[in-house]
Amino acid sequence: MIEGCDKAEWKPGSKYCGNACRAFGVILQLEPACLLCETFPKMDKSYFCSASCSNKSLDNAPVLLSVPAGHQALRTVTDQWTKEWKHTPNPPQIRFMWLIVQNRSLHNAFEAKLQAIDASHNFKAERMFPANERRRWHGTKRECTVGDPGTTPTGFCKSPTCSMCIVMQRSFDKEKSAPGSMFGKGVYTSGTSSKSHGYIKQVAPSRYRAMLLCRVLAGKAKKLTQADHNLVAAPAGFDSVRGVPGGGLNYDELIVYDNNQIRPLYLVIYDST
Ligand SMILES: [Zn+2]
Ligand SMILES: [Zn+2]
Ligand SMILES: [Zn+2]
Repeated sequence: MIEGCDKAEWKPGSKYCGNACRAFGVILQLEPACLLCETFPKMDKSYFCSASCSNKSLDNAPVLLSVPAGHQALRTVTDQWTKEWKHTPNPPQIRFMWLIVQNRSLHNAFEAKLQAIDASHNFKAERMFPANERRRWHGTKRECTVGDPGTTPTGFCKSPTCSMCIVMQRSFDKEKSAPGSMFGKGVYTSGTSSKSHGYIKQVAPSRYRAMLLCRVLAGKAKKLTQADHNLVAAPAGFDSVRGVPGGGLNYDELIVYDNNQIRPLYLVIYDST
């Protein structure tokens, strides 16, 4: 209820009398706003206020939706960023964050893969998320300034070599992995934000740097401490490879060998120093 409004709840259990007061709940910062309309409070466990806003974002995909300061998602990501920054100096400040909404076919292929991996093993019994989903960092080349202040929802650049814009629009392609990579031909991510920072490359002048936080379906992960350059698929009986520190590796890595086991989730923009 909004203070000063004496109208009855719109229906029992709803907090407001109607749309005017719902919107007021956002203006008064009582509740986080829908990332699309930026007008009404978001639903639980969703970025959006309604199925309509969720569908509209997919209709317009690929798009970038600004995650405002104070949003729970931004706090969670900032915590993960800070906790997993293992190099000196201290972690740079995250300034902006964007939700990456990809088209329905990419969205559906990922969901199908999630269901398939989850059905293959009882992850729940091991207290894991469905399909052992993890959030992992990926640093890559940004030729433009996408994500910096002034970015529009469709502000991807047109360069065929801007990895950042290509991945955000079309997702990852394991064929693009660098030849001779430690665990073969796959898509590489890390839980260590400062390790992924070592892979970014900023081309256009900017006072900011950009990194991706990804959804990765680790499934059953094979732990490896030594390089195996010839891998083109996860070892038999496994869905991914976890490079574990020790041996030849200083920081953790998670590698998937199926393009549908990974999607970029957030574009994270942080200070260059
Ligand atoms: Zn009211
Ligand atoms: Zn909305
Ligand atoms: Zn670009």
